[in-house]
Amino acid sequence: MEKNKFINPNPYYSKTDKQKLNVPDEEWKKILSPSLYAVAREAATESPFSGKYNDFDSLGMYFCAVCGNALFRSDSKFFSSCGWPSFFREEKGSVLYKRDLSHGRERTEVLCGRCQSHLGHVFHDGPPPTGVRFCMNSVSLDFEPSADLE
Ligand SMILES: [Zn+2]
Repeated sequence: MEKNKFINPNPYYSKTDKQKLNVPDEEWKKILSPSLYAVAREAATESPFSGKYNDFDSLGMYFCAVCGNALFRSDSKFFSSCGWPSFFREEKGSVLYKRDLSHGRERTEVLCGRCQSHLGHVFHDGPPPTGVRFCMNSVSLDFEPSADLE
């Protein structure tokens, strides 16, 4: 996990524990760095082309930066010109969806299924085979390299 993502030890972070978390924002505020808190708990969006996983294609697994939940495999990542890391398929059951009417348009917000942190949005303009594009914030993701994943 990224060292600078937490300002205090994060007892909730686990790549093996699947139990759902219900941690209040006041508690997350004591743990998460201000930049991660802004995206994960206040649904801020990082600037396009600024995130470290936008132009990045190593083999491995992407996890929720807040809680360690496995979200995406590198073989579901694709190059998108939108400026944020994009995936066409999530790990089954790893995320939640919420209707988002902010900024005067209707979008579908994507939340971590374990800790309900904001990850980004999903759009229906992705490539085959799914036709969806998970448009994620790099700051919401942790990457772990793995040679076993394509
Ligand atoms: Zn999470």
